[in-house]
Amino acid sequence: MPAASEVSNQHEIVIGLEVHVQLLTKTKIFCGCSTRFGDPANTHTCPVCLGLPGALPVLNRDAVTMALKAAMALNCAINPQSRFARKNYFYPDLPKGYQISQYDEPLAEHGWMEIGAEGRSKRIGITRVHLEEDAGKSLHEGFQDSDRRSYIDLNRSGTPLIEIVTEPDLRSPEEAYDFLTRLKTVMLYLEISDCNMEEGSLRCDANASVRPAGSTTLGTKTEVKNLNSFRFLQKALAYETKRQMDVIDSGGTIEQETRLWDNSEQRTYGMRSKEFAHDYRYFPEPDLLPLVITEGWKDAVRRELPELPDARQERLLHEYALPVPSAAQLTTSKELADYFEAVVTHDADARLAANWTLGELQSLLNESKKAIRESPVPPEQLAELLKLIAEERITGTIGKELLRQVFMTSRPVSEVMKERGFERIDDPEQLAATARQVIAANPKQATQYRNGKTEILGWFVGQVMKATRGQANPKQAQEILKTQLAGKP
Ligand code: ADP
Ligand code: ZN
Ligand code: MG
Repeated sequence: MPAASEVSNQHEIVIGLEVHVQLLTKTKIFCGCSTRFGDPANTHTCPVCLGLPGALPVLNRDAVTMALKAAMALNCAINPQSRFARKNYFYPDLPKGYQISQYDEPLAEHGWMEIGAEGRSKRIGITRVHLEEDAGKSLHEGFQDSDRRSYIDLNRSGTPLIEIVTEPDLRSPEEAYDFLTRLKTVMLYLEISDCNMEEGSLRCDANASVRPAGSTTLGTKTEVKNLNSFRFLQKALAYETKRQMDVIDSGGTIEQETRLWDNSEQRTYGMRSKEFAHDYRYFPEPDLLPLVITEGWKDAVRRELPELPDARQERLLHEYALPVPSAAQLTTSKELADYFEAVVTHDADARLAANWTLGELQSLLNESKKAIRESPVPPEQLAELLKLIAEERITGTIGKELLRQVFMTSRPVSEVMKERGFERIDDPEQLAATARQVIAANPKQATQYRNGKTEILGWFVGQVMKATRGQANPKQAQEILKTQLAGKP
């Protein structure tokens, strides 16, 4: 992580994040409506999520279980009893006029998550994890009369969310980016959210302040909203903290306010703070019982927890003797790590499997904009290909070409091998013939070699490889070339 942005001469940056994660339950948090994304507006609504008078909420048990998974993965203490509260504010997409959330008695508190590379890792405190409902969506664009009207879609109203609040422990925009990336990875491993920032299933507000280096008191913070991607988060924080430093350096003071990131202008701007100042008038939700988490429930959830990224990285390191960067890269996604382990299960060499999964296969996937789960090469096929390389039946160069063919056609390795005649050429006669042709076609280079420029041998090997479309056994080709070049012209 670049140290430059952490401390600019005399300023230290302080950042805390508030992250909302949409949970992947089938139904909403307090009613039976579907949470499916992308359906026609207002087709998943009922008296509860429309906020009709007299309708009563019933808590979705799956939402609590998923929130517990997140809280445990973030090393939080689970409160045996927590409470729902009404957060009051007025906005057209909030039909009840309040959001059911948790306030002074949240589900879980006092956790942490590690960021940074091995050996220089750092714990970021998690203040709390609580449950709440999402609001609906205001549609300000895309209609013929959008210049005059806004529309409301309440399909999202009542979708379960967890809010994760960090301590002000982050010290640079890069650390904030790293934190959010890892948090997303953990949520994906837990399979409790799809964390799609564009679709809004992962949302992040960033709080930032600066203070004199060495100070232990916090400076005045601003809260930056409208961060629709990980890069926006990092850019917005870089802009905002620089802005604060400039204000302070020129003798001004920071006003506590909410600011919005404007990506087209690459800057944050303040919303008029008075007008947007909130007094939420929280009070306990009278329609819901306190949420009691029994030891039995916790145990059941703990047993269901998957192996998390850090633990998996450790295991890959030791079980397969992988280099740290490979293990770290493979565990950035559960699917990638699963794929790798499936390749090894089919008797491929672990290092080869790691290199080819992260190298050749990944670049083919990138080229065709596919995710690993959509790979046209199943793990057992990559394993088969790697066995051919390990047994030296094909060269690495041919391996790459073979993988590309298998990738493009979704056909089995064995079939493509046979059809394309990719088998390695070990036949000394055939290699000698090719070597003779290559030498005869390049008399100038041959003379240079004989006059002592022996490093040109590698170039000759390359020519033989080219002539055999990568099929020649390179070691053998080299020996044959040497012998022939040593002979009389
Ligand atoms: P608010 O009352 O404005 O919601 P909180 O104390 O609840 O503020 O904190 C909200 C988020 O802001 C948390 O992530 C916290 O770590 C962060 N935060 C609080 N104070 C500061 C500060 N001075 N600088 C940077 N981040 C801060
Ligand atoms: Zn409903
Ligand atoms: Mg707060």
